[in-house]
Amino acid sequence: MADKILQVEHLEKYYQKRHVLHDINFSVDKGEVVTLLGPSGSGKSTLIRCLNGLEAYQQGTIMFEGEKVQPNEKTWQQIRQKIGMVFQSYDLFPNLTVMDNILLGPTKVQKKDRNSASQEAVKLLQRVGLEDYQDAYPRQLSGGQKQRIAIVRALALHPDFMLFDEVTASLDPEMVRGVLNIIGDLANKDHMTMIVVTHEMNFAQEIADRVLFLENGRILEQTPSKTFFNKPQTDRAQQFLDSMD
Ligand code: ADP
Ligand code: MG
Repeated sequence: MADKILQVEHLEKYYQKRHVLHDINFSVDKGEVVTLLGPSGSGKSTLIRCLNGLEAYQQGTIMFEGEKVQPNEKTWQQIRQKIGMVFQSYDLFPNLTVMDNILLGPTKVQKKDRNSASQEAVKLLQRVGLEDYQDAYPRQLSGGQKQRIAIVRALALHPDFMLFDEVTASLDPEMVRGVLNIIGDLANKDHMTMIVVTHEMNFAQEIADRVLFLENGRILEQTPSKTFFNKPQTDRAQQFLDSMD
């Protein structure tokens, strides 16, 4: 049996009285790329945020690397070191340089030596084509560059698992490809385990092993990517794909 990085069982999430996730069940194997698709408001961000403890859930179980997560802040802080997350909004610290943004986690949280951490950061920056921007501040970067830095910052912690939530949604069209290529390389060359929320259907089709389709807080289908994009199992998913053309 393949190694499971993540298992979610019977997860239920409410915002006050509003029930936004209903009986969520799925798992992610090591090296697997899962795309989470669904209309706006279906609960994609909420689900992603539950997976690294940024949102509380009311019922259900999350197992990470074979261990049941005790949903308290101390446990989540440890787990978050192994889960990298990049959001739609660029959440770089505006008062820190690119390098200091990247080194914050490795040096402050993981207590790594600054010299070796910065050598590694330079390699990651080279990989995303931004090695000349170490001393720049976030305001001096384009949206696409900021997202590439946000990805590098997550990778600098050596995550076992990455979560991407619409990371290209705020970008100008000409910036989108560069960011998607980096995520695509992580999937295809590094075999990084990841869940990707995206509105870019071609990209989703290129990288996904499996698609989870969410509507109104329920997983309507979990389908191998090839099947999903050719012939989804539900009419609702077909309508969704038609609307994305
Ligand atoms: P998606 O990412 O698929 O667009 P979200 O997870 O953002 O969906 O939202 C799912 C549902 O939860 C929506 O009905 C949304 O209005 C609601 N919601 C999201 N965040 C909050 C919040 N902080 N408080 C209350 N309701 C929220
Ligand atoms: Mg969202």
